[in-house]
Amino acid sequence: MLAENVFERYEKQLLFKPIGLKGQHKLNKSRVGILGIGALGSNLASICARSGVGELVIVDSDRVELSNLQRQMLFDESSIGCYKSSCAAEKLSHINSEIRIEAFTERMDARNFRDLFGSCNLLLDGTDNFATRFILNQQSLEHGIPWVHSAVTASSGQSMFIMPRKTACLRCLIPDTDMLADFPTVHNSGIITPIVTIIASISAASALRYIVEKHIDYDLKYYDAWEHRFSKFTVTRNDTCPHCRSIP
Ligand SMILES: [Zn+2]
Repeated sequence: MLAENVFERYEKQLLFKPIGLKGQHKLNKSRVGILGIGALGSNLASICARSGVGELVIVDSDRVELSNLQRQMLFDESSIGCYKSSCAAEKLSHINSEIRIEAFTERMDARNFRDLFGSCNLLLDGTDNFATRFILNQQSLEHGIPWVHSAVTASSGQSMFIMPRKTACLRCLIPDTDMLADFPTVHNSGIITPIVTIIASISAASALRYIVEKHIDYDLKYYDAWEHRFSKFTVTRNDTCPHCRSIP
């Protein structure tokens, strides 16, 4: 059920014709899982909560550190030392008290994926490493749940919508996982704050459009926030992809 104050809370979003009241109902009825509630996850969760996604499932095993505050928008100095998932849930409940938020302080793996995310309509990638993303990729494909991949390093990042059986998956995009050893990481190349919010916003827009219109985006979007360079290209499915071939 939409809240009585829906017309006031979502006034400007309702005026956006592709969403309107019908789309707002769809957002309200959706259940979105967010894996990782750090830099990308904070922004993704904030946008989902403000947009009226009815149920959010957030999963993260880490605690907030001072060095997180540069880019992890849901936290402040009073959050330091707290578990990110419970702290984020509290902040999100202040942003929108009319949605349901479930927070889990756990690491996701193949064994607990179904319990954590099995009932979600859509999953969002807020992780900071490809090892976890490949688990998320394979599990999402096996459970038939679409997800939006996001990744950021230094001043650039990428976003890609993944629909089991339809689009290419993360493993189609990166067939040779040995390549990952040469990828720059946040640990060796750092990260600037603007690219986090830009990539999270691109992914969140894909998520909202999927929920409202069932729109499937086949392009990988890439942006460099230092050079202001945007590009996108369609990733084709790889017939030999072991993850796509494992879909039951
Ligand atoms: Zn694949």
